[in-house]
Amino acid sequence: MSEQTSGKTPLVKIYGRLGSAEAYQLRDFLHRCDVPFEWIPLEGDTQARLPVCEFPDGTRMESPTIRQVIEKLGWFANPSRAEYDLAIYGAGPAGLSAAVYGSSDGLKTVLVERWAIGGQAASSPRIENYLGFPEAPAARSSPSARASRPISSARRSCSRARACAPR
Ligand SMILES: Cc1cc2nc3c(=O)[nH]c(=O)nc-3n(C[C@H](O)[C@H](O)[C@H](O)COP(=O)(O)OP(=O)(O)OC[C@H]3O[C@@H](n4cnc5c(N)ncnc54)[C@H](O)[C@@H]3O)c2cc1C
Repeated sequence: MSEQTSGKTPLVKIYGRLGSAEAYQLRDFLHRCDVPFEWIPLEGDTQARLPVCEFPDGTRMESPTIRQVIEKLGWFANPSRAEYDLAIYGAGPAGLSAAVYGSSDGLKTVLVERWAIGGQAASSPRIENYLGFPEAPAARSSPSARASRPISSARRSCSRARACAPR
């Protein structure tokens, strides 16, 4: 049975075997980044190298790396400037806040994340309170939704809040 992450139109369909570590890694990453995807577990023989990712434009990738999927989604960004006033490594709550305040103060700011934007706060369902959410958000919002408020704020103000470089 297939599984959809949200009511949104999936940006990626992932076909793979139940229990596949590679498929799990892709799903985990997309979930953390709040990218709607559909997971379709396969049984039986196939010639394809699993997992297979399918995109709305018909592109099909066999056994892709996370980096290849990110590039396909247009998420991978090289820094647009040769020099920055402020470079922040890590887009958890601390890095996101620093990026917002650094760039609001006029500093040319780059935010570099090695994995998924939002840090622990975007991945844990057990957060009870969170920056910008005064009333116990855990009951009402997903980790990725919780992270999205400071992320969109950082994207608005930061020169490159999406310059992530996973494997
Ligand atoms: C189960 C759980 C429940 C929690 N509940 C609460 C709560 O209710 N309220 C609360 O306020 N806090 C809570 N916390 C703590 C909160 O999540 C952390 O304090 C907060 O995420 C720390 O933010 P940070 O930005 O310092 O670090 P992190 O969230 O750890 O983010 C660090 C980021 O840096 C990236 N990174 C690391 N090294 C590099 C590198 N070399 N280059 C690029 N990127 C790098 C990582 O991938 C990560 O995204 C909880 C934590 C957990 C695990």
